[in-house]
Amino acid sequence: MSNRTLNLTDPLYQYVLEVSLREHPALAALRKVTHDHPYASMQISPEQGQFMALLVQLIGARRTLEIGVFTGYSSLAVALALPPDGRVVACDVSREYTDIGRPYWEQAGVAHKIDLRLAPALETLDGLIGDGHAGGFDFAFIDADKVGYDAYYERCLTLLRPGGLIAIDNVLWGGRVALPAEDADTAAIQALNRKLHQDQRIDLSLLPISDGVTLACKR
Ligand code: CA
Repeated sequence: MSNRTLNLTDPLYQYVLEVSLREHPALAALRKVTHDHPYASMQISPEQGQFMALLVQLIGARRTLEIGVFTGYSSLAVALALPPDGRVVACDVSREYTDIGRPYWEQAGVAHKIDLRLAPALETLDGLIGDGHAGGFDFAFIDADKVGYDAYYERCLTLLRPGGLIAIDNVLWGGRVALPAEDADTAAIQALNRKLHQDQRIDLSLLPISDGVTLACKR
């Protein structure tokens, strides 16, 4: 027995998937096609997708934000968990990557729930704020360029309603956050982690799931 998070050996990880993963066929197909992509490690794990879908369901989310879509696995996981009139405003700059996911959004019958905005995310988020949507979102997932994380966090916090939830990916950054920063990405994540710890606008939990996910609930 251990009260610390277990090291996931391959057999234990397989067991976790075997006894808990419920993956929609379109998600499984998209994961398969992304597996061979040179940046495949940018895709979230299936159990993380299922976890985020459960969070979205738990808070009764209808309007969500995604910063960093890649090939669209997390957008699809969230869209599947939303009610029929739910929407994901999905921010990314790459048509090439998001085009990989679109057929699977359609296959799953939820493409209409994913409002893809191909532009720098800050432009999209500032546009939403400018158009009066502050406080109008329930959930946000931040998984994009790490140097931009703090700016994305601030915009998402503005756009969320009180009680809304932000999930921030890669907050353990392969363990590098615990060492002196040798690059801008690590330094940016370290700075945000320390800021969130003191941020009285949120309640938080840093979960050592996948590469580390911080949940920040807006007060
Ligand atoms: Ca990530």
